[in-house]
Amino acid sequence: MTKHVTKHIFVTGGVVSSLGKGLTSASIGTILERRGLRVRMQKLDPYINVDPGTMSPFQHGEVYVLDDGAETDLDLGHYERFTNSPLSRQSNYTSGRIYSNVIKKERDGKYLGQTVQVVPHITNEIKEAVLGLAGPDVDVVITELGGTVGDIEGLPFLEAIRQIPLDIGKHNCLFVHLTLVPYLKAAREAKTKPTQHSVQQLRQIGIQPDVLIVRTERPLGRDDCDKIALFCNVEKHAVIEEQDKEFSIYEVPCGLVGYGLDKLIIERLGLPAGTSKMDDWEALVHRIKNPKHEVNIAVVGKYIEHRDAYKSIYEALDHAGIAHETRVIIKRIEAEKLECEDAASALAGVDGLLVPGGFGHRGIEGKIQAVRYARENKLPYFGICLGMQVAVIEYARNVLGFEKANSTEFDTDTDHPVICLLEEQRTVTEKGASMRLGAQPCVLTEDSLAAKVYGQKEISERHRHRFEFNHAYKGRFLEGGLGLCGVSPDGKLVEAIEIPVHPWFVAVQFHPEFKSKPNLPHPLFHGFIEAALKRKQAK
Ligand code: GLN
Repeated sequence: MTKHVTKHIFVTGGVVSSLGKGLTSASIGTILERRGLRVRMQKLDPYINVDPGTMSPFQHGEVYVLDDGAETDLDLGHYERFTNSPLSRQSNYTSGRIYSNVIKKERDGKYLGQTVQVVPHITNEIKEAVLGLAGPDVDVVITELGGTVGDIEGLPFLEAIRQIPLDIGKHNCLFVHLTLVPYLKAAREAKTKPTQHSVQQLRQIGIQPDVLIVRTERPLGRDDCDKIALFCNVEKHAVIEEQDKEFSIYEVPCGLVGYGLDKLIIERLGLPAGTSKMDDWEALVHRIKNPKHEVNIAVVGKYIEHRDAYKSIYEALDHAGIAHETRVIIKRIEAEKLECEDAASALAGVDGLLVPGGFGHRGIEGKIQAVRYARENKLPYFGICLGMQVAVIEYARNVLGFEKANSTEFDTDTDHPVICLLEEQRTVTEKGASMRLGAQPCVLTEDSLAAKVYGQKEISERHRHRFEFNHAYKGRFLEGGLGLCGVSPDGKLVEAIEIPVHPWFVAVQFHPEFKSKPNLPHPLFHGFIEAALKRKQAK
């Protein structure tokens, strides 16, 4: 019997950032899985932060949380939505993490006598991170390199992946490079020069891409693709066009199969693949393109102008929409605006309100106004993390009559700290990876709306927070009619609330958006969109 060898695909990007490298990598994962292959996904991020957990969403978009509590790049969200690759801390490395590991080893005396250098110490650490994902149950590891070729901080990563074929054999590795071919209106021409330059830069480092995926706004002619192939030293059929998708990101895998990318990868790497089974994915795309209904959902948040700040929330709303054959139109509302504008006019015409997670004081009062409007007007409400905390504050102020109720995150001296720091957080001073993180079990109350929506009582969801529902107020809230419908198994932490007299008002301390898939929407999002549709149809 021949020994099992895990193959490696490296995805790099050139010309500009935000080309959708994460989406393309995830889509490569999809099309290989649809050939019966076992895939693992990984992202290498060249920035110095040990993880993105300490970055503002304005800088880097959403922080995506895994079951094991790793705070990761949002591209891992694409990986989970597009593939079945199990993800863990090993799926996302940054320069900061690689350097910390090496520095720790140096202090521990693991390199005694040596000068510790970028090559080979840092590059070896990177190679270990990549090769660590290989194994007998893995056919292909897809490693995406963040940033753009030419970035100073990306060099050690490029050097490391350049060396990998020398270690494990050229025929076991494939380099995919993603670039942009801009269309110049004035010249009425697609321009291939930036792509040529970016490949030149890669080749200077010693990496010859095997496949070029070129992003274009308009279709390229065969001539342009052949020219790119010639100048970039790539076979003609390995230049693949990826046109902007009009409807949905979930069309990308179908496009790549259309260009034969799965076949090309399988042949190049000699993978033991079956035939392509894309039927369910194509059916999904068909459903996305042919919705029967529409709903309007308001999302009131603090980072609303940054499209990626609530990435998984928007995706999860879409997934629920797909299941209901409904186009979900999102109205993004800056929370701060609601502090001077009337919530009724801002929310006029919407069929549901969602308040996502967040940190810090800015916009809090606006979110509370929005929640009040939803509660009083029986507008379906879905609160997530901070969205649950503001719902608790609103209920305390306007139903229980605790006028100054607040979270100690926003007012340390409040008379009624209905949201307060988690017990375990009281002694924590560090900011990195120090929140309550990752999957935690939760028990739902029998007969609650939440239990009905989930169809089960025991659930596990991912968390990322420091504050919690203050248990000292439990009795007051229960007397006041709030349903504390989800608690931790020891009964100490309130993880979900609902208002039984409201048609659909559910708020949760965790982040269900991280567990929604296009063909398997999260039950809470599914229930929320159903309630929004009902309200719209009743109008
Ligand atoms: N800032 C709140 C907390 O730390 C909510 C966090 C969140 O929404 N992710 O508890």
